[in-house]
Amino acid sequence: MTALSSLLSRFNEPETLKMAKLGRELRARGVDVIDLSLGEPDFDTPSHVKEAAIRAIQENWSHYTPVPGYLELREAVCTKLLRDNGLIYKPTQIVVSTGAKQSLANLILSLVDEGQEVVIPTPYWVTYSELVKIARGKVVEIKTTAASGFKISPRELEDAITKNTSVFLFSSPCNPSGAVYSRQELEALVHVFEKYPQITIISDEIYEYINYVGESCSIAAFPSIANRVAIVNGLSKGFAMTGWRLGYIAANETIAKACEKIQGQFTSGANSIAQRAAIAALTEDLRPTLQMVEEFAARRELVLKLVAAIPDIKCPIPAGAFYIFPDMSAYYGKSDGNNIITNAADLSMYLLNTAHVSSVMGDAFGEPSCIRFSFANSRDKIEEGWHRIKLALARLK
Ligand code: PLP
Repeated sequence: MTALSSLLSRFNEPETLKMAKLGRELRARGVDVIDLSLGEPDFDTPSHVKEAAIRAIQENWSHYTPVPGYLELREAVCTKLLRDNGLIYKPTQIVVSTGAKQSLANLILSLVDEGQEVVIPTPYWVTYSELVKIARGKVVEIKTTAASGFKISPRELEDAITKNTSVFLFSSPCNPSGAVYSRQELEALVHVFEKYPQITIISDEIYEYINYVGESCSIAAFPSIANRVAIVNGLSKGFAMTGWRLGYIAANETIAKACEKIQGQFTSGANSIAQRAAIAALTEDLRPTLQMVEEFAARRELVLKLVAAIPDIKCPIPAGAFYIFPDMSAYYGKSDGNNIITNAADLSMYLLNTAHVSSVMGDAFGEPSCIRFSFANSRDKIEEGWHRIKLALARLK
């Protein structure tokens, strides 16, 4: 028998990808599955970005790329950070990677030693905890609830910090809850971080543009801690470029060099064509992004209306991203006569197998009372999906 490394038993496969796989398998058997599980825009990449990529192929941008990314792209990232966030960075502080997921992996492997603690508010994106486990660090969760808008207070942050805390990791807008921290809320957290200079703050801003409350503030905007913030961002969500695999970090030069060193052994520089396309995405016309966000905003209204018509679902209003993360625990303990629902996993599987709608159980995000449903799907599919969910839930007694 093949002997595998102990590393593999330390972490889990992403639940989001597992659900997508189950949905695909059902579809392959001819079942009409509505996918409300996956986290990607259902839009095409903007034309001017595709044209930049076609030009790059014709101009033979086909060689290995510098490990931290083309200088021109790192300059474009700096231009974007100044334009959108009012932040000043130098290209030496930017490392471009094969998706924000790799950026996060580079950061965790650069910053976390065995036994060190990484503080993560729940609910959080599935990959955060697993990357910490890969690095042999310890995940310290701060539980948040719908009642607090799925946001932590300065007090809760301070209570979670110990002398072993090396990193605080969060996303705003948050996947899965859609919570967005305001400038004032971030400032209150910054006052706590000021007392703990050993902590690096990883700020995942990949849903920055998909924000229904206006201003999107980065925690790197606060000068007292700016040097300790590592921003993670990428092209996947804001430019409908999930398959292009392009993300980046902006951090101090020590962190940037460390990420470059790690990436130099894992993958080297990111794909050359995607990098040339990213220059266009970050520096040219933002209108396609804004139009996409307008459509997400309309779908958010639609899904909130559909969910409100179903009994026993507590659904906070997401301020950003393209998910709702309702509390479905009122259905735990019920049955349709064949299936007994004891938890979010059962309910998510029940919805897949009987309503043919895929979702992701909240446990994957550290919140077992909730289930994540995406609204990155057409209005028709959303209407049909929630119609089916309503009927399936009504059968549970
Ligand atoms: N961060 C969050 C919060 C995400 O939801 C995702 C993707 O789902 C990522 C990072 C990774 O994005 P990428 O496609 O750039 O790897």
